Amino acid sequence: MTQTVQVRIFRLMLSGQTMTRQDIAEKLSLSMPTVLQNVTHLIDANILEECGTTRSSGGRKAKMLRLCPEAGQLLGINVGIRQVEFVTTDLLGNLRQSDSVMLPFRDEPDWYTQFQCALLDFFEKYQVDSSQILGAGVSFPGIIDSQRNQVVRSHILGVEHMGLERFQKALTCPVVFENDANCACFAERGMGRKNYVYLSLNESVGGAIILNGRLWMGETFQAGELGHMILIPGGRRCYCGKQGCADTYLSPQALERDGWETYLGRLAIFITNLRMLLNMDLVIGGQVGIRIGPQMKDLISKAAQLDQFARDINYIFPCIQQKHACALGAAGFAMEQFGDKLLHKAETTS
Ligand SMILES: [Zn+2]
Repeated sequence: MTQTVQVRIFRLMLSGQTMTRQDIAEKLSLSMPTVLQNVTHLIDANILEECGTTRSSGGRKAKMLRLCPEAGQLLGINVGIRQVEFVTTDLLGNLRQSDSVMLPFRDEPDWYTQFQCALLDFFEKYQVDSSQILGAGVSFPGIIDSQRNQVVRSHILGVEHMGLERFQKALTCPVVFENDANCACFAERGMGRKNYVYLSLNESVGGAIILNGRLWMGETFQAGELGHMILIPGGRRCYCGKQGCADTYLSPQALERDGWETYLGRLAIFITNLRMLLNMDLVIGGQVGIRIGPQMKDLISKAAQLDQFARDINYIFPCIQQKHACALGAAGFAMEQFGDKLLHKAETTS
């Protein structure tokens, strides 16, 4: 029971906000004695720390608390066609170290051996203490079925029904696998947004949806496969077999071919359709998201011509994470999944 309260306090503090014991009691509907006892335990275990006092409003000043960011680390890995990227983050998702190695993906034993060596090199080069790592998240460009522990399909890596056991063996810590667009989407959380849709405009176009702060997976793990919604009926042939998919019009390659004017017109149609369906903020990510800043005004005016329901087009945003988005998001998923291990550690050592 005590453990459960500590997990709840820990999860509340993961938002990165500072708060008083009273705030915690109110937000979690706990009694003050319960909060006092559990906060003391978390401070003794170096998971929480005091950081100043509230501004005086006549009464007694209360001490502020925050999570010790350095209490543990997470590992984020992004597996791409040509290279693998490694990052470590602290408990609050702040980037600590990052590096990447050329390692063209093949689902063969020697690839996993090389992958393992590259990871050990990364730890050594940046003096990462692997005992501090609570868990790893791996971002993978394909549809992941976590229940069956496999990649259902990755067009870009040319694999189908690929088991994930070799990855698990190559890593010495607990690991969670997630689709790359889901990871990049998750890396955009923390802006106070609870609901948003993320459009991943890369060589393969994808997306993800966050509802109430959680990833919306759909019933067959394919929610947010936005690239295969038809944008131009009877249009360009897509690798999925259909014609006119968004994938063939909104990739960076399509931008090179069509130019900004045409590209933005199509993007505006796509975005306003998503807005009608979901009625939430839309974040533009991927390689196009990184470059779209100077074009935002033009995009918004094109969307304004299409959207007759909004007074202002105030729901389209370029992505914040310009580098390491997938790996950082993967580390975020690892935090969600394995962060509580820190509390078990504290429990067994106290
Ligand atoms: Zn398609």
